[in-house]
Amino acid sequence: MPQYRRMFLAKDDDIYDTRASCTRNCAFCAVAHNGPTPLDDGEPRRVAEAAEKLKLNYVVITSVTRDDLPDGGAEHFARTINAVRSKDPEIKIEVLVPDFKGNADALRTVADASPDVINHNLETIKRLYPDIRPQADYKRSLNLLKEAKNQNTRLYTKSGIMLGLGETKDEVISLMNDLRDVNCDILTIGQYIRPSKDQALVVEYIEPGVFSEYEDLGKSIGFKRVFSGPFVRSSYKAGEIYEF
Ligand code: SF4
Repeated sequence: MPQYRRMFLAKDDDIYDTRASCTRNCAFCAVAHNGPTPLDDGEPRRVAEAAEKLKLNYVVITSVTRDDLPDGGAEHFARTINAVRSKDPEIKIEVLVPDFKGNADALRTVADASPDVINHNLETIKRLYPDIRPQADYKRSLNLLKEAKNQNTRLYTKSGIMLGLGETKDEVISLMNDLRDVNCDILTIGQYIRPSKDQALVVEYIEPGVFSEYEDLGKSIGFKRVFSGPFVRSSYKAGEIYEF
């Protein structure tokens, strides 16, 4: 059986770092905003050691958004990919990256490290960006996925969204077509759940049958994989794109 673990780029030996602090403030997210801390040079090595100890064959590496860093943390991603692969050349690596503020060089740094999957979540439909992702830009995120594919044609690209934030069906379908227009391979669709009373309200709980409709539609328009259901999250069954 494939094993899945989600690792945040931790400051210490904890795999799940509750102290991660983001430079952005998305309305759905409960990550802290205590101000960014300096990068930890030892982190790539420790992530690699954790993957080795856990005997993972598929690893998802992610970070908060680091708009304070000139490269948005791209080099740190690349160092972590290289460290993990140095322990196990066969391991599959997915990176869930921020938009690097559209910095093409930063994205190239990550793509050149040859992760197997570059994931960047659109999170929601275009109209809701000012309220839900105020520091992000829908087109910029789409362009990241497009450029990731252009820079390294061997990797898969992936994105994910949450439903229940006030989007319409037509808007979801439009988003799915936008993702296919940039050759996005994999799509995850899940139900938004409010982490605490400080985050955006749930506007709607989507019927399971509607998730199934999106899954069928996604497959019909060319996604290689669509994971769509109320409990689906960005890393849900991530390794299933590969045979182990
Ligand atoms: S950029 Fe990511 S980590 Fe930061 S607030 Fe938004 S969703 Fe949370």
